[in-house]
Amino acid sequence: MSWYLAVSIVVLSILGMEIFAWLVHKYIMHSRLGWGWHESHHIETKGVFEKNDLYGVSFSVIAASLFIIGSMGYPKLWMMAFGLTIYGVLYGIVHDGLIHQRWPFFIHTKGRYLKRLVQAHRLHHATHEREGAVSFGFLYAGDVRRLKERLKSNHNKTKT
Ligand SMILES: [Zn+2]
Ligand SMILES: [Zn+2]
Repeated sequence: MSWYLAVSIVVLSILGMEIFAWLVHKYIMHSRLGWGWHESHHIETKGVFEKNDLYGVSFSVIAASLFIIGSMGYPKLWMMAFGLTIYGVLYGIVHDGLIHQRWPFFIHTKGRYLKRLVQAHRLHHATHEREGAVSFGFLYAGDVRRLKERLKSNHNKTKT
């Protein structure tokens, strides 16, 4: 496999994972089916781990399986697994580190884009219910002012 094909697969896997994670977060985690695990992430929980971490574990199992299958003669799958792993690391740094400060040391948010990402995800956590949440991405976030407006209109909708 040429190096540029390898790099393309890795980059596309990272981008694809953000879209996939957005879809899973919006349509599975916030659905009746997936809320059982995800609710722990929207309410205060005691202890280091929360039930929601099981989603991360599931994704890791998928990546590990792809690595195993990939190493049996499917280098493209292996590269995909590598992209998924990088996404997992970025998620761990951005979502668990920068946003939720779950790491034992403080990570300071620098730069306009990262600050917007943190703010947008805080807005995601403004709802403690399954419905009415905004901003489902982890590495990409839309305009914060627009998200606030959507949050307000969602809130009014659920009230009436
Ligand atoms: Zn959520
Ligand atoms: Zn979160």
